[in-house]
Amino acid sequence: MRTLFTNFSLIDGTGKEPLQDATLVIEGKNILYAGLSSQSPYQPETTGIIKVDLGGRVMIPGLIDAHVHLAGSGEPDSYFMAPDPEMELVILKNAQRNLAAGITTVRDVGGWNELEFHVRKSIDDGTFSGSRLILAGRFISITESGAPYYAGMYREANGADEVRKAVREQIKNGADLIKFGVTGAVLVKDGIPGATHFNADELKAGISEAKKFGKRVAAHAHGANGIRLAVECGANTIEHGTFLHQDQELIALMARNGVFLLPTLQAGWTVVNDKSGVIPAWIRKKSEQIQQDAILSLRLAYQAGVPIAMGSDAATPLNFHGENAIELYWMHQAGMKPMDALLAATYSAAKALGLQEKLGTLEKGKIADLVILETNPLADLRSLADKKNIYAVVKEGRIAAIQPNSNLPGKLFAQQVLTILSQ
Ligand SMILES: [Zn+2]
Repeated sequence: MRTLFTNFSLIDGTGKEPLQDATLVIEGKNILYAGLSSQSPYQPETTGIIKVDLGGRVMIPGLIDAHVHLAGSGEPDSYFMAPDPEMELVILKNAQRNLAAGITTVRDVGGWNELEFHVRKSIDDGTFSGSRLILAGRFISITESGAPYYAGMYREANGADEVRKAVREQIKNGADLIKFGVTGAVLVKDGIPGATHFNADELKAGISEAKKFGKRVAAHAHGANGIRLAVECGANTIEHGTFLHQDQELIALMARNGVFLLPTLQAGWTVVNDKSGVIPAWIRKKSEQIQQDAILSLRLAYQAGVPIAMGSDAATPLNFHGENAIELYWMHQAGMKPMDALLAATYSAAKALGLQEKLGTLEKGKIADLVILETNPLADLRSLADKKNIYAVVKEGRIAAIQPNSNLPGKLFAQQVLTILSQ
C-alpha cells in the first residue's frame, strides 16, 4: 500500500529549513519520497495511491525521548511500586501516552522486573499500540540505598566479575543497551550526585563486556569525576551530566569523542516549579541546589559542540509521560537554537541510540514515523507538548494516534488507534 501526503510544510529532522508545499510518500513501513511537491516523482493522480491532503499543517519526524522510565508515572516521592501484573499495565499505558504525544520511540534506561520486555514484544507484534521501546533492562549499580528503594529497577553488582555478570544478564533478557549508575542520584535520599560509585576496574569491565556484544552504553553520571570515568571507559551517552561545567577539558573530550549529553532538565524543573507542595522536602532541596548546574553544563557543552540528545527522564516527580517534549523548550531556554533543540529529539537522538540509519529523519528509505502538527513548533517549542496541537501520529506508516475530530482514511489505521486527548 502506498500513501501520499500533500499540502503541508515539512521539517525533515536533518536541520534543513522547513520546506513549504511538500509531499511525503509511504510504502508499507518506509518512506519512498520526502521533499518538494514540484520535484516528487509521485503525484496525487498516480493510480493505486491513497491521497491525504494535510490542509497546510506541519509534519515533523516522530520524536525520540532517549531517557525515560516507563514503570514510573510522576509519583511525587519517586516511589513506584506495584505487583508485577499491575506494573506491566502501567508500562504499557505509559508507552501509549508517549505515542499519543508524538514520541514514537522511547529509550527506557531503568525498567522494572524485566516486565518492559513483555510490553515491547506486544507492541512489536502489533497487539497493542505504543511507542517503539529501546530497552536497557535494569540499572546496574553498586550496592547502595537506591537499590531497595527502586527494587525492580536496580541490579546491584560489586567487583568486576559481578558487573560483567550483570551485563550478561541484561543481554540475556533482551537489552538493547546497558545502563550503569556511575555516580550517586538525586532521587535517592542519601545519594550524593557528585560522588563516583563504580571503581575504574568495575566500570571498565562492564563497559567492555557490553561492547563485546555490540551494545551501546548509557552512564548515569552527575559528578565531573564520574563523567570522566564513564567517557574514558567508552560510554556513548552521559545521562544528566549535571556538574560537567566544572571541567572544560572533559567537555572538549566529549565533543572530540562524540559522546552525547542528555541533560534531563525537565526532571529538575517539575520539582523546582511545583507549587502544590506534594514533593518531599529532601527532593526539592537537592533539585534546587543543582538545577542551575545542569543548565550551565548544557550551555557549555552545546557551545563546545558536544552532541546533545533529548531525555525527559519522564517518571520522576510530576514528570508525566506524554509531556516529554517540554524538555525541548527547556533546552532552548538554556541556550540551544530551536532547530538544534528539535534535532536533539530527531536526528541527534537517533544517532545517540545508534539508529540513525532507520529513524530520526524524514528521508527516503527511513521508517515512516511522523507527527502532523497544527503549527510550526520552531515558533514555540512548547507547542510540541500541547496535545491540542497534534493532529495525528503515524508509526511505521500507519496512523497510530489521532485527534477525535480528524478526518483521515481508516485504511491507514494501525490495528489499535489511540485518541489524542488533551488533559
Ligand atoms: Zn532516569
